Formats: sequence, structure tokens, C-alpha cells
Amino acid sequence: MDAERIRESLESNGLRFTSQRYCVMAFLLEHAGHPTAAEIFEGVNRLDPRLSRATTYNNLRDLVQAGLVREVAVEGRAARFDAKSAEHHHFICDWCGRVEDIAWYPVPRPGAASLGKRVVRASELILRGLCSACAAEKASQ
Ligand SMILES: [Zn+2]
Ligand SMILES: [Zn+2]
Repeated sequence: MDAERIRESLESNGLRFTSQRYCVMAFLLEHAGHPTAAEIFEGVNRLDPRLSRATTYNNLRDLVQAGLVREVAVEGRAARFDAKSAEHHHFICDWCGRVEDIAWYPVPRPGAASLGKRVVRASELILRGLCSACAAEKASQ
């Protein structure tokens, strides 16, 4: 995604275009493997050493709040981040912690009766188990 498209997506989501936000978005779009906040900081700091950890984390939080970046919670490990806009599900490996994208398919929504007065913003499915590499390693033991 080029700078102009990143600018448009920031502005259409109510965020001012800044070089720091651009760096965080561009890094996430280039690294689709769901990096952690620490990995994002290392990556953007390499591109622009003036970027501090606090600034990077604040920008990341703004992007998550604006809905441009998804935070994928991984039990017992650092959260991972994803700027892919296409709807998709996630698979998380219990063994190595890898987070993989699963092609989107519709999941049934609970009926209104079980939701009560809750306002649902999004729904996603997280599948857990062993990734193909870990499954192969376990099988060969
Ligand atoms: Zn694995
Ligand atoms: Zn993803």
C-alpha cells in the first residue's frame, strides 16, 4: 500500500496523517505475520531512529481504536497486531504461538435473545491447536 492510500485510510478513519502513524501502518502492511508491539517498535525504529517506544505504542493504540489495526490476543503471550483489512479468522498455535490467517467464512451469529442489550461491533473466530510445522514435529517424535 502506498503512502497516499495509507493517508486516505488514516483520514477516513478520523486520524491525522503523521509520519509515525505512517511508519507503523506501513510496517504492519509489509509484515503480515502478526508482529508483537515490541517487534513493530524494533522495525519502525530501524527505519526512523527518532521514533520512541512510547510514541510507537501510542500510535499503535490509536490505530487499533480507529479500527485500522486488529489486536489479536494470544493467551499467555504478547498480543499480535494485524493491519489486513479483509475479513479473516485466526489460527493460533498452542506450541509456538504463531498466528495464521484463515480465509473468511461466515460464522453463525447468536440470536438477539442471547445478546440482550449488548451492541456487537465485530465477530471473529479463533481456532487453536498445532500449526502444520508443529503438528509434523509432534508426529515424528
Ligand atoms: Zn506451531
Ligand atoms: Zn490476521
